[in-house]
Amino acid sequence: MLYRIGILKGDDIGLEVVPVAVKVLKTAAEQYSDIKLELTELPVGYPSYLENGETLPQTTLDTLKELDGWILGPIGHMAYPKDDAKAINPHPILRRQFDLMSNIRPAKSFPTVPALHQNVDVVIIRENNEGFQPDRNMYKGQAEFMPTPDMALSMRVITRRNSDFVARTAFNLARQRGKMKKVTAIHKNTVFKIGCGLFVDTCRDVAQEYPDISFDTMVVDTFAMNLVMRPQNFDVVVTTNMFGDILSDEAAGLVGGLGMAPGLCVGPDYVMAQATHGSAPDIAGKHIANPYAMIKSAQMMLAWLGEKKGDHFAIRAAQDIDKAVESVIGELKSVTPDLGGRVSTEEMGDAICQIITGKKF
Ligand code: ATP
Repeated sequence: MLYRIGILKGDDIGLEVVPVAVKVLKTAAEQYSDIKLELTELPVGYPSYLENGETLPQTTLDTLKELDGWILGPIGHMAYPKDDAKAINPHPILRRQFDLMSNIRPAKSFPTVPALHQNVDVVIIRENNEGFQPDRNMYKGQAEFMPTPDMALSMRVITRRNSDFVARTAFNLARQRGKMKKVTAIHKNTVFKIGCGLFVDTCRDVAQEYPDISFDTMVVDTFAMNLVMRPQNFDVVVTTNMFGDILSDEAAGLVGGLGMAPGLCVGPDYVMAQATHGSAPDIAGKHIANPYAMIKSAQMMLAWLGEKKGDHFAIRAAQDIDKAVESVIGELKSVTPDLGGRVSTEEMGDAICQIITGKKF
């Protein structure tokens, strides 16, 4: 089976963690002669701005349309020039243009990694393209404005279509994981009676089609407390954009921080591997960034594409990456300094490749 994958390194530590994730992906795929990976590197971010005068060239967007999916490294848009319309933040545009409605963000603890809790294995699914995010929730224009210098208005968008899609992502995942087989929808319908009301009602409608999966709902503030105190009680969680953005960082904080927080953006036609963390300019160029989140995001992409194409070789290659990563993190010998180790980003990737192939890298 052929997989056409784009590689968009992004900024800062993206230039370090993305090549490592690609090496692991290629190594795992090479173990199966039936998997053909066609990798295409495409310009994005500040390196692209320096070379092409724009952070998201049209050629990149046009090429992505021809691919199955891509890896997007972290974007350091806060450092882009503020006065140039060509220095835009690419990721909301990619999420929106390619209709990547579900952002799947797992948080899993490892017994060897210092964390606030053990035995955590929760996945937060966040709606990606509407909610309160003013840079992407309108067809044209920004959903934030100031009628007077002393008043600011931000608008929140909830649709049945996107709520339905994220709910289905959640129920399918709960079924596939086969763990607690439980979906929890997070909302604030006590206040947002219409917006969160529509979201929860849509999730409830979808739940009818999954009688094997239990479904409950929780108000966001109650959930925020429960996630900190009893994260083991949750399996798959589905929520609107901004709640999910905040809660998924909170979940990452429970299991060892942002270097341990992978992510996958999915829509009906495309998939984008994108770790939860930012471009971490404070550690860029030092080769100490933890590649786990990026590697695991790429692994999730391969598994998702394998499921979509019904290709058990790709699913097995993705499982091989998972096992190798778990083993490297389990031994804690070849891990980056944030996990208490002494090796570089690249050496941690090589340790994972070594387990996948049984050969020295
Ligand atoms: P953004 O707003 O773009 O999501 P952020 O404000 O969340 O970014 P990050 O760039 O993710 O910030 O970095 C937050 C902190 O986490 C920094 O101290 C950074 O060094 C650390 N960090 C982020 N990613 C990693 C990683 N992969 N490995 C190790 N440390 C990381």
